[in-house]
Amino acid sequence: MTLLDGKKTSEDIRKEIAVKVADLKKAGKKIPHLAAVLVGSNGASLTYVNAKVKACEEVGFGSTLVQLPETISEKDLLLKVKELNENPDIDGYIVQLPLPKHIDEHKVTMAIDWTKDVDGFHPQNLGRMLLNLPCFLPATPYGIVQLLDRYNVETSGKHCVVIGRSHIVGSPMSILMARNSKVGNCTVTLTHSKTKNLAEICRSGDILIAALGKAEFLTADMVKQGAVVVDVGITRVDDPSKKSGFKLLGDVKFDEVAPKCSFITPVPGGVGPMTIASLMMNTLQAIELRTKV
Ligand code: NAP
Repeated sequence: MTLLDGKKTSEDIRKEIAVKVADLKKAGKKIPHLAAVLVGSNGASLTYVNAKVKACEEVGFGSTLVQLPETISEKDLLLKVKELNENPDIDGYIVQLPLPKHIDEHKVTMAIDWTKDVDGFHPQNLGRMLLNLPCFLPATPYGIVQLLDRYNVETSGKHCVVIGRSHIVGSPMSILMARNSKVGNCTVTLTHSKTKNLAEICRSGDILIAALGKAEFLTADMVKQGAVVVDVGITRVDDPSKKSGFKLLGDVKFDEVAPKCSFITPVPGGVGPMTIASLMMNTLQAIELRTKV
């Protein structure tokens, strides 16, 4: 069994990006600048946003954290989005989800200039992904593709089972795995909460991508010998023995599944760091993308 080490791979990617940023600096060109918008003070969101801003600083990007109160109106948030769209110094930005209940997430996502949408959630980016046109790929699926690529995991002709059909992970993942591409050319089954015989379908999967958000859902009896398992899930579970008071669990029961796998991602240290690396890759491409479209 080989561990798909997202922490190490993301560090490699960040080092490569840092070299490219240094080259841009030397050539007197614009350094990419990423902004992150955080509404409210949700602990998990704050941790994710801080990690993204820190990663930007490490590779030499410009970064701006825009912190807004939980009580901000939808109208005022949309004004902030407009301001970021029009700011020529900002090359890409993210609005950290989830947003407070009184704000329509779709409205906000749609208002982001898609050429700055480095999370890849805007319909333009999702549509362009389908058409194989220049775009920002959604960060988490893009990170998984990078991880499989860098470990030379063979995907062509394999049966890939994706569990979960969200717009940010499962659905785009299924499209990327079916694409005619080095990582791709799979026959994909996209499953969800209404899928019948899920365990049986999983057992027929050569590649399993679990993105349902249910801690330790995928057990050894659902996995065939030699499968590749990618665990996207992150669930906080109380753990008084930890300083933080919680631990993070994936969607895969790692200890019993790992011995059956050819490759598997751990949680933490698998898909999570790759999502941040993808955001960095998208931000690096942002200036170039805007000149292409
Ligand atoms: P989501 O929007 O809640 O979607 C969950 C999907 O799983 C839905 O399509 C749902 O089906 C399906 N599902 C739920 N229970 C199921 C079951 N028992 N059997 C089969 N399918 C089931 O979640 P998400 O945003 O995609 O996130 C999924 C997980 O990934 C979460 O733990 C999240 O924290 C994590 N995540 C991690 C990263 C990272 O960087 N590592 C990034 C994003 C998300 P229905 O559509 O039928 O409801």
